[in-house]
Amino acid sequence: MQKMSNTKFKEYVEKKVRSTIRKYTLFNQKDKILVAVSGGKDSTVCLYILKKLGYDIEAITIDAQIGNYTKQNLENIKTVCKTYEVPLHVISFREEFGFSLCYIRSHLKSKGYNYSSCMICGVLKRYLLNKYAKELKANCLATGHNLDDEAQTTLMNVFRNDFQRSERQGAKPGLIKTAHFVQRVKPLYLISEEEAKKYSQLMEFPVNYDICPCSVAAYRRQFIKILNEFEEKHPSVKYNIVKFNESMQSNLKEKEEQVIETCESCGEPSNNKLCKACVIINEMKNKEDIKPVSQPSQI
Ligand code: SF4
Repeated sequence: MQKMSNTKFKEYVEKKVRSTIRKYTLFNQKDKILVAVSGGKDSTVCLYILKKLGYDIEAITIDAQIGNYTKQNLENIKTVCKTYEVPLHVISFREEFGFSLCYIRSHLKSKGYNYSSCMICGVLKRYLLNKYAKELKANCLATGHNLDDEAQTTLMNVFRNDFQRSERQGAKPGLIKTAHFVQRVKPLYLISEEEAKKYSQLMEFPVNYDICPCSVAAYRRQFIKILNEFEEKHPSVKYNIVKFNESMQSNLKEKEEQVIETCESCGEPSNNKLCKACVIINEMKNKEDIKPVSQPSQI
């Protein structure tokens, strides 16, 4: 990380976010941007900088009910949104599905599904974020994914030989433009984890720097370790991985308005008859009746 004064560092990060938005044409001043916030440093930095740059933003958080960890995160999110006057929409697993993440995982395990917490959490959160982004008529959904996340995902896709997923990565992920998906965007795409952390600390944001207790055994954690070790010895390795993936993608033509299948149960995009979220929800229905889907509460 370059050495510079704190003020210069903050300006450098903000400038980099602004240039990322322009370079990848993520959105413009007329767009309504829904920012997915978790209570962590990255999404908080993303929210704050977009607000500072004058964009029309609202925040949304999905509470997976992971004990004190998510309770504290929710408090922090409310404080940040109140401080910077950003409308906040709170969606919870229990209100949506009737159960917390831990309960859903235990039940699925008892049914023979060997899904990790992160896999279930990711599927259900993406499902809810897309659903509510459409309901709230957002033009795009901004997430706090940073350069490290992107480099880790690229490497994970290589290790899994998953070229299809690689194709869909990027600052503006996805190849298919369809009304079923609200475009996701990553304004921190070129900001490293270290830079986001320093920015957050300098701003004294009330955020949780601890890792999620459910992610301890996550597959991704091994890639974080490998890449941090490489970056230490070979600076810019993370940036180079991200750029390598971009170069590969540049040969792929964007598929405009291609027909995409939808889940026959919920109508959300899906490659199968039932989307993964509905498979999980149906399994939980077998346990008890699922509570009706709620409306987001605005704070
Ligand atoms: S680390 Fe995994 S379980 Fe924890 S909030 Fe993130 S996706 Fe969910």
